[in-house]
Amino acid sequence: MSSESDGDEDGSKKSPVDLKKRRLDTSIKSNDVDKYKPYSKPDYKRSYPDNSNKEEFPVYVQGIKPEDKIGNKNPLQLSKIFKNVKGIKECRRINAAKIMLVFKQAAAANDFLSHVSLRDNNMKAFVPASSVERVGKIRFIPKECSNADLYHKLMADSEIVGVRRFMKRTGDGLEPLTTISVTFVGTVLPQYVYLDNWRYRVFTYIPPLMQCFKCMGFRHSAKVCRNDQVCSKCSGGHSYKECSAEFLKCVNCGGDHLAVSRFCPQKAAQIKKHENNYSSKMYSTVLLSSDFPPLLPNDKSVVKLAHNKLAPSTVQPKKQKLSQNSSHSSTAVQSAPSNIGSYDQLIKDDQFLSKIIKTLVMLGNSNTANTTAHIKEILIQNLTK
Ligand SMILES: [Zn+2]
Ligand SMILES: [Zn+2]
Ligand SMILES: [Zn+2]
Repeated sequence: MSSESDGDEDGSKKSPVDLKKRRLDTSIKSNDVDKYKPYSKPDYKRSYPDNSNKEEFPVYVQGIKPEDKIGNKNPLQLSKIFKNVKGIKECRRINAAKIMLVFKQAAAANDFLSHVSLRDNNMKAFVPASSVERVGKIRFIPKECSNADLYHKLMADSEIVGVRRFMKRTGDGLEPLTTISVTFVGTVLPQYVYLDNWRYRVFTYIPPLMQCFKCMGFRHSAKVCRNDQVCSKCSGGHSYKECSAEFLKCVNCGGDHLAVSRFCPQKAAQIKKHENNYSSKMYSTVLLSSDFPPLLPNDKSVVKLAHNKLAPSTVQPKKQKLSQNSSHSSTAVQSAPSNIGSYDQLIKDDQFLSKIIKTLVMLGNSNTANTTAHIKEILIQNLTK
């Protein structure tokens, strides 16, 4: 639906925003350019809260110039650059463009963001978005509200640091939609936001699946791609711009469509996998993080169970294919109470676990008292959705 992405996990906010601005410039009226430009809190920079007691505080480092592939540099040479940085627990290579320094303390990680070694070596450091922010999707927001207005008027339990309106590409440009994405500080998405006394439900925003424009593979960008160039039209070893083929052949599935087509069965399967993985990753981050708000005393055993049993299994790579319809998991639920053996089945069912975890997160997030009846109602609602 949305043609825009706000997955700026890598902190490279500049180029996508510039790109969007340029697209907007050529399409919609000039006074609408600012109205629908993604809005961020002025001078906002991601950092770790001082009182956070997580076990590690990752910070990404990359070159200021995109062609500086610091992930490909000699680790010994990089260690030398950061030898005066305090509190580093370990270093990791992420990809050709990026490395990660993991700190033991929030303050050390925050201090490093403006460390002199970065400036001296043309590097920049930033806190990964997934460590300190959550992005929610909100529907039915009137189109006349600008992103800046929304930023000032929206009320929520968590601080808002960014607002974007989803735009649809049409024949003659971009058209605003009634869905927006809102970036909140913290690792738990608020359940609702308020706009002029109206309560809106906040849904988890899942960024679009990344597809490489060089090799047509998934989950990486052309910027870091080490594969050979593949044509998105005929799957030959050239760019689509130089393609003279009269036929279409998708490199991923062999079908007669473009490799970027959303009708590609291979791509559809990848999108489904991506969405499941993303949800599991977010829920497990929340459950394993000590920023997770405490539930009422009676519910502590449930959280404990989540920590011990549920969370690790959602982190592990999944071999099992997830089914789209929920009938499988809901029949499993019905048979569970009378049959202890079937718990084994349930624990292996990722979709079922995601729904349980989602319920825990929603309950932990809500301000209302969680009576058993209320908990049961939400659980059933989530399981039968
Ligand atoms: Zn690639
Ligand atoms: Zn071609
Ligand atoms: Zn295909």
